[in-house]
Amino acid sequence: MKFYNINTPNKLVSLKEAVLTGIQGTDGLYMPQSIPTMPASFFERLPGLSLQQIAYEVTQAMLGDDLNNETIKHITGQAVYFQIPLVQVEEGVYSLELFHGPTLAFKDVGARFMAGLFEHLLQEDETQIHILVATSGDTGGAVANAFYNKKGIRVTILYPSGKVSPLQKLQLTTLGGNVHALEVNGTFDDCQRMVKQAFNDASIQDKINLASANSINFARLFPQSFYYYYAYGQMQQLHPNSQVVLSVPSGNFGNLTAGLLAKQTGLPINKFIAANNANNVVEEYLQTGKYTPRPSVQTISNAMDVGAPSNFSRMLNLYNNSYDAMKADVAGYSYNDDETRACIDEVLKLHNYLLDPHGAVGYLALKEYLKDTPEMQGIVLETAHPCKFSEVVEEVIDMKVAIPEALQQMQGKPAYKQYIEADYEKLKAYLVI
Ligand SMILES: *Cc1c(COP(=O)(O)O)cnc(C)c1O
Repeated sequence: MKFYNINTPNKLVSLKEAVLTGIQGTDGLYMPQSIPTMPASFFERLPGLSLQQIAYEVTQAMLGDDLNNETIKHITGQAVYFQIPLVQVEEGVYSLELFHGPTLAFKDVGARFMAGLFEHLLQEDETQIHILVATSGDTGGAVANAFYNKKGIRVTILYPSGKVSPLQKLQLTTLGGNVHALEVNGTFDDCQRMVKQAFNDASIQDKINLASANSINFARLFPQSFYYYYAYGQMQQLHPNSQVVLSVPSGNFGNLTAGLLAKQTGLPINKFIAANNANNVVEEYLQTGKYTPRPSVQTISNAMDVGAPSNFSRMLNLYNNSYDAMKADVAGYSYNDDETRACIDEVLKLHNYLLDPHGAVGYLALKEYLKDTPEMQGIVLETAHPCKFSEVVEEVIDMKVAIPEALQQMQGKPAYKQYIEADYEKLKAYLVI
């Protein structure tokens, strides 16, 4: 498969170039030259296929010219080795639990696929790459875990001191090995600024091969399509020939874009819902046709606090910039923090199901859409385990949220981290030694 950057559509590049060099700043918006159509036989078999088998077949259709079958099996097997169950919440409403991976958020799928692909693409040359990421929470954990022990790759993660949750901090600091955590005396914005400065600093380029693992990389986005096929297949098993609507709690819109990509390969999802918190620029676009990016505001579903979502231009690209075409496939809704809190409380009381704040936004949007279309089966993507946002959730439900066993084990482990000031020169000195 050849790829083009949506800013320079006439220049085609290889998979390797698209994922390894297209990783700096906002320049990583690559799309495949053509989107393969999955064969009818695939969709007929879909309800009986495992997540792993789906991942394998979809990757073969997209990247079969670049990767042999064994490599595809290896990379996809690592990306989706855990369950992604479709769990009923109530009649007509299901939760696709994307939080059974090692860091309890859907970002594990994309980060693990990307790590496997990077490792494969780098094995021919002796290149060492140095992944540099700033994190406000979930991304850093998923990236650290996915790239841990990968040959030829060193990872440095910058996180703001005192501003990530205790659980998130454990995920960043207890791995050690090739994963280095820098606790920055500043905010997330400081961390991001320092990372950007490093990518723009020509004086370090010949000393280290910096790479970013940010969410606009196609290698992180594409594998997120696997679970859309899987969810649809599972739903057809439960409700043959049902129409399916899928609600996606969205921030940077990588997750939703992966669903739209699946749809373009032939997956017959009836409707996608872009579920936003107060950072609702895409919902606004879907309502009015006007797109007005603006600074983000802080909410309790903070992984969705994005004011200028990077993947919006990919969504437009998928619909040839047609508002009407996008609107036919995607509906938008948004909710504030009070509505989100009330939803977590109510769903637990009525249905004995505990949503995290992101999933709650998705659930509210799904219910609103289903009011007019009660014949449809609805799925909300539950993007993280509620224990990752225990401060918010426990206050709402007035109960403790249990932490899964795998994460409890981290609690006694030593932390590997270095403390630095929010000053680029300090980061530079750290990077070039
Ligand atoms: C990252 C994240 C989101 C937003 O996903 P996008 O692909 O950026 O739209 C939603 N929920 C959780 C828990 C996340 O970590």
